[in-house]
Amino acid sequence: MHIDRDIKLDFRDVLIRPKRSALPSRAEVDIHREFAFKHSQRRYRGIPIIAANMDTVGTFEMALALAPFDLSVALHKHYGVDELVRFFGALKSKSSAFYSMGITKGDREKFERVVQRAGKAVEYVCIDVANGYTESFVKFVEKLRQAHPKITIMAGKVVTGEMTEELILCGVDIVKVGIGPGSVCTTRSMTGVGYPQLSAVIECADAAHGLDGRICADGGCAAPGDIAKAFGGGADFVMLGGMLAGHAECAGRIVKKAGKQYQRFYGMSSRTAMEKYAGGVAHYRAAEGKEILVEYRGPVAGTVKEILGGVRSACTYVGARQLRELTKRTTFVRVRGEANDVFGKS
Ligand code: 5GP
Repeated sequence: MHIDRDIKLDFRDVLIRPKRSALPSRAEVDIHREFAFKHSQRRYRGIPIIAANMDTVGTFEMALALAPFDLSVALHKHYGVDELVRFFGALKSKSSAFYSMGITKGDREKFERVVQRAGKAVEYVCIDVANGYTESFVKFVEKLRQAHPKITIMAGKVVTGEMTEELILCGVDIVKVGIGPGSVCTTRSMTGVGYPQLSAVIECADAAHGLDGRICADGGCAAPGDIAKAFGGGADFVMLGGMLAGHAECAGRIVKKAGKQYQRFYGMSSRTAMEKYAGGVAHYRAAEGKEILVEYRGPVAGTVKEILGGVRSACTYVGARQLRELTKRTTFVRVRGEANDVFGKS
């Protein structure tokens, strides 16, 4: 047994310290980013916020609603081949959609069928597993990279620098970072496993950038300020589930309760999702996600404007004219978690 005595931080443990700024107004701030990916060599330009590949949020409708804002979507993996081919075939802004998959033989075969028919329209793929530390995951990613040198691959999830480096060396362009922080995730309580998300982002970004790779901070953002903190900590992309749930573009019935409208939102490892897609929770496992009701908020455009306004304002507070300057202009002030100091003093 080993104890890591370093202080690890979640978003709520810090605030961003304001800095002198020559920026006259928020309107001057550009929160687009441009990347040339290490392996695919493709260029990206957009606002690097991605709707999560959850079946409630990662929908075609969400992709179409976010595209005018230059935001992206990771489509959920339960769409059928025909509808995916139609969607990718009609896609105008190619940066707005990631094809998502797991690592089974069936996932790979389905992907090949879609790519064969949709051709070059599938530019981005998201390979998503709960635990990115397995050999089978690394091998799957390596093989996909060999077969598709020109596709931009996002893959994870991991939370440590050494695994981030390994994935980048295996062909991943964007490492998905986060184990346990999600709003409908119960991994931390069910397994005791996890890593405070801001520290995971800081450490994985540092590792990735040293190899010219990128990271996506996945999970745990509950407000626009958390997104700003993720970018401040070094995230190149930020993925959102709960913050985009409860909108017209989400899948799921609207439920009325005490005069208010709600929408169901659940984890992809919840009992709800497993009953929907896998015929129930297998006898050897337990659900690691939960279902909640979120207040229905209408079209997502209003929420997106709030999010972008918050991130732009954060840039103004620290004098970052462009989002890419935010990390170097960020100083975090610790505001919680002092109990951790017990470790530091010993
Ligand atoms: P949020 O933005 O809602 O805090 O987090 C979204 C992320 O939570 C997703 O992108 C995904 O990585 C993670 N997630 C989604 N469903 C589940 C689940 O059932 N269990 C766990 N452990 N994580 C989940």
